[in-house]
Amino acid sequence: MLQNTIIGYPRIGSQRELKFLTEKYFRKEVSEAELRKEAEELRLSQWRMFKGKHIDWVPCGDFSFYDGMLDTACLLGAIPAAYKALGLKALDTYFAMARGYQREQGDVKALPMRKWFNTNYHYIVPVLEDSMELRLSGDDLFTMCGQALSIGIQAKPVLIGPFTFLKLARYQGKKARFAGKLAALYIEILAKLRALGVQWVQVEEPALVTDLCLEDIELFRELYSAILPSKGSLRVLLQTYFGDIRDIYRDVAAMQFDGLGLDFVEGKQTLSLIRNNGFPKDKTLFAGVVNGRNIWRNDYEKTLALLETLASYVEKDRIVLSTSCSLLHVPYTLGNEAAMDKKYKCHFAFAQEKLDELQVLQELFASANYTQNKLYRENVALIRAREQFADKEVQDAVAALQGKQFVRKPAVEQRRKLQQAALDLPILPTTTIGSFPQTKEVKRIRKAFKRGKLTAEEYTQHIREKIAACIALQEEIGLDVLVHGEFERNDMVEYFGENLQGFLFTQKAWVQSYGTRCVKPPIIWGDVKRTNPITVGYITYAQSLTKKPMKGMLTGPVTILNWSFSREDIEPREMAFQIALAIRDEVLALEAAGIRIIQIDEAAFKEKLPLRHTDWHKEYLDWAIAAFRLVHQSVKPATQIHTHMCYSEFEKIIKEIDAMDADVITFEAARSNLSIVDTLQRMHFRTEVGPGVYDIHSPRVPSVQEIEQSIYNILKKIPKEKLWINPDCGLKTRGRKEAVASLKNLVAAAKEVRQQLKETSVS
Ligand code: GLN
Ligand code: ZN
Repeated sequence: MLQNTIIGYPRIGSQRELKFLTEKYFRKEVSEAELRKEAEELRLSQWRMFKGKHIDWVPCGDFSFYDGMLDTACLLGAIPAAYKALGLKALDTYFAMARGYQREQGDVKALPMRKWFNTNYHYIVPVLEDSMELRLSGDDLFTMCGQALSIGIQAKPVLIGPFTFLKLARYQGKKARFAGKLAALYIEILAKLRALGVQWVQVEEPALVTDLCLEDIELFRELYSAILPSKGSLRVLLQTYFGDIRDIYRDVAAMQFDGLGLDFVEGKQTLSLIRNNGFPKDKTLFAGVVNGRNIWRNDYEKTLALLETLASYVEKDRIVLSTSCSLLHVPYTLGNEAAMDKKYKCHFAFAQEKLDELQVLQELFASANYTQNKLYRENVALIRAREQFADKEVQDAVAALQGKQFVRKPAVEQRRKLQQAALDLPILPTTTIGSFPQTKEVKRIRKAFKRGKLTAEEYTQHIREKIAACIALQEEIGLDVLVHGEFERNDMVEYFGENLQGFLFTQKAWVQSYGTRCVKPPIIWGDVKRTNPITVGYITYAQSLTKKPMKGMLTGPVTILNWSFSREDIEPREMAFQIALAIRDEVLALEAAGIRIIQIDEAAFKEKLPLRHTDWHKEYLDWAIAAFRLVHQSVKPATQIHTHMCYSEFEKIIKEIDAMDADVITFEAARSNLSIVDTLQRMHFRTEVGPGVYDIHSPRVPSVQEIEQSIYNILKKIPKEKLWINPDCGLKTRGRKEAVASLKNLVAAAKEVRQQLKETSVS
């Protein structure tokens, strides 16, 4: 019989219950028992809901108090010595690894955090120390599965596989071989699950969709040829997602897995792999056909055509319908969106609605004559109706774009001279990344306005007061290039979305970003257009208050696109260009209003870089860079364009970053020990740079001396004429006191270094 499953489900709670509760636990307002009790309730209600929706194989163990990689690390006993030494109980050790631990003898830092493949979900990076004795620790997974089974749920435990675990881990000390030990532990885990009466276990190996080398394939084989022979009656599903497994398909097809979970949404070659190699007769195909990463309704016509094709390679009863990845990446339910117009809502499927889709697809696929089915026909009609949201003017503008509109003239070196003359800044100019601390009061004002408790005039007045205070503060601190502070923005993407045509907003469509942090991405619904000025009012007001140059602050097209749920009916390139044209108009309006420096933030520029190197340029960088260039191509040579990126891990695309052709780029560097600076030097980076000289993610105030030292370190690699001095990201999450103290030290350090440089050049 045809069956269905999902890979995983959001866990934070449809009303973010788990988030709030966990945060209470952090503040010591609830006990561990209370936290666990409520979490259990959430799981139980979820399981019951799955049952009601006829999900055949229910993921179990996808629940997490913080992150699944961290859970796996703890399950395997991969707890670095520093956390063990704290002598805390298990749950607190777990949270200490996730968030760090403050104590009198000096704080213990959190484990590193990284983006989960090309999503905006962050996982905790396991750190493997060569002295580590791995052993099975903690039994949350087994307890959860036992509980599910006991209430009649067909639990399918989910585990991060050993290959992905080893690929994503960091090694401290010499890179010891953990493969053998790890295989032994997975054998133990499988045995325990089998003893519980589990039938299917899902072992997730998303790392298989990246470029694999021979050594990787060898490691994979080594791990699983050790693990699989002992599985006995337990059926092991090798689950992959976020792409296809072209480098290893034939190998895994020949291995002892009982099921293969393949992604037919993002896996461009998944179908052709089956076409060319067939599908192994001894395995069940878990077909990821419902998109786990986007929120549009499934196109039944397309999906069923795909399934029919698959049925010619695999008998239907060996196919389990599934999602393309965990539903963790989409919001809970449209049921929370009371304010959204039905005419929009009918086009979307959040996590819960995707369960319905799986059920319907299962029914349609099983029936001989599905084209007559009412649900099928409605779906076909709905998908066709989506063409209505076109804006001819925008489409024509994108179609008419020409090569020269992507090339700013003159070249950066010539522009630099003109900008220097126009701006008259000292060497090592000081600035910030844009936002200033968002006090409770600012948030209250924004909320009051949203709820209609303030008129537009009153609201604008409040924000202007904040701006004025922020300008005064920056003058007092002595910064060279000022910002308005971003008090009007709740979020750097949402704010622009709200002010552009073509975006939709949700009330509760939260998606976990990391730990207890959630984001609420806007939806790109139709063609994007700028219909009114967005930032000009506030920024020109700010400029009117100071003689120092104001830096206008915008969010760039690639970041807006990457942090939204995007359309599927047109290409990302097209969306990026539409947004770029809209932001370009804002850039030109700022310039026309006398703003001489404009920062176009591309915090998320790298996020959707394809997982396979062969796709980098064609599928992404070519248009992403072009979109950014389009935004600033037509400004005057003397107008200085800045950009900012959050993660400095762009060593591999340094040339491409340079090719964005900004005049200045500021980025996070403090945490990565300035290693990026070496790369900049080696690659003869042309753009001026502001590698963050201190880490804003921590409340600690860096001393003048410390900042000076890091400036000197940077100056060994970057010529002083090309260096800016700034923190490494926006200050909005910081408290005012520490932000001001840090900035004062930053300015003092820059002045000190300038003085030194002057003296040495004279002598
Ligand atoms: N200009 C933004 C700010 O300062 C940039 C935020 C970011 O990089 N994520 O808040
Ligand atoms: Zn940043």
